[in-house]
Amino acid sequence: MDFIDNKLLSYAEAHSDDESSILKELNRETYANVLYSRMLSGHLQGRCLAMFSNMIQPKVILEIGTYTGYSALCLAEGLQKNGKLITIDINDELSDMVNQYFNKSEFKNQIEAICGDATGIIPQLDLKFDLVFIDADKQNYSNYYDLVFEKVNQGGYIIADNVLWSGHVIEDEKEFDDDTRHIHTFNEKVKNDERVSKVLMPVRDGLLVIRKLHL
Ligand code: SAH
Ligand code: CA
Repeated sequence: MDFIDNKLLSYAEAHSDDESSILKELNRETYANVLYSRMLSGHLQGRCLAMFSNMIQPKVILEIGTYTGYSALCLAEGLQKNGKLITIDINDELSDMVNQYFNKSEFKNQIEAICGDATGIIPQLDLKFDLVFIDADKQNYSNYYDLVFEKVNQGGYIIADNVLWSGHVIEDEKEFDDDTRHIHTFNEKVKNDERVSKVLMPVRDGLLVIRKLHL
């Protein structure tokens, strides 16, 4: 399901910042050579992530679900001078391509790509985050939220992608497939969590922007 008319999307993109040449190239190469290229954040969502990151000015970012590195490069745009971004993906087949792009980007010394299962890696990270982007396997969204929560600084942000899941979340609950059920459970969990403020933005496939309150 497309949530926005294609012409409106083009208009929105045309009146937003352009993609940098490296992001354009990565976008094109992913669509030409990599499976499931629709998973890449793309122009408009990428500019949203970059804008959020610039608003937050994080010192440390965690990304769960690197894929070809597009969203990582967008999020890195808002990092503080000595800030760093850690991104995790279980798929080692994309590592060469990802590292090649990170290395030729201006953030080459600020991005660390870790290959492995995020559910095992996150508990080993002895760091506090100002921004976490959850975008890996949908079954684990609630787990990722719980795993990162104590590692997010007060006033820090968690952003979760694909929370509208192509519109499946508004279908009859009895017909939900596994991914839809997990995403809906996650959305409800966040809505009912009084430790955070939240807004679900129907950008692309749905971005849930969550701020950890000072309690
Ligand atoms: N953030 C990217 C898209 C991520 S697609 C962008 O916006 O451009 C989702 C990614 O999650 C896939 O690359 C997949 O390999 C990864 N993934 C799935 N399960 C995972 C797990 N358990 N741990 C880490 N990464 C996982
Ligand atoms: Ca996504």
